[in-house]
Amino acid sequence: MGFFSRKRTSALEAVANAPVGARVIVEGTGATIVGTLVFQSGGDRWVEHRLTTDDGRQVWVSIENFDTTVATRWDLADPSAVTGGPDGTRSGYGGTPFTRSETGMASFISKGDTGCNENGSVDFVDFAADDGRRLGFERYGEIGARRRSIAVAGNCPNCGAGLTVDPHGRCQHCGAAATADVGQWDDWEVSVGTDVTSALTLG
Ligand SMILES: [Zn+2]
Repeated sequence: MGFFSRKRTSALEAVANAPVGARVIVEGTGATIVGTLVFQSGGDRWVEHRLTTDDGRQVWVSIENFDTTVATRWDLADPSAVTGGPDGTRSGYGGTPFTRSETGMASFISKGDTGCNENGSVDFVDFAADDGRRLGFERYGEIGARRRSIAVAGNCPNCGAGLTVDPHGRCQHCGAAATADVGQWDDWEVSVGTDVTSALTLG
């Protein structure tokens, strides 16, 4: 058991430290890192990679150290399915209850194409469910820190075509950066996190 958990941790740390342009395998699909946010909050440090998969999807994955190293895939939540919010101790998504687990503010630096400026800060509030899923609220509010919302599915925000991205995270139809804001300035964005700790390796 110890052997496997150490191996898994070192494999994830290799992904965490991989540069923009590196190849990874996420949930069985090859992908390229197109951008990375490196966060720092107090003594904690973690990364989120923006990936484009070989089948033309965009995926955000975070790699964090808790008791062990954990990888999480983050998908934009359907706001209409969220109950409660960052100010409460409980929240819900699609009928599943979530309990507040972490809150704080982090500074970040951005590498590659993330949709963010080179640096900035973000407020975050994390909730966790019994089934292992997470619900993350983030607010990019500092002057100069662009929001990083990504149109991960649906239609291109520029040309309206069904969204398939090239290896650089751009719409294959019109070439526009496939990013879009989902909220207003200073609003909270909500993402649903799914554990991919055992499904993320260097490619
Ligand atoms: Zn387009």
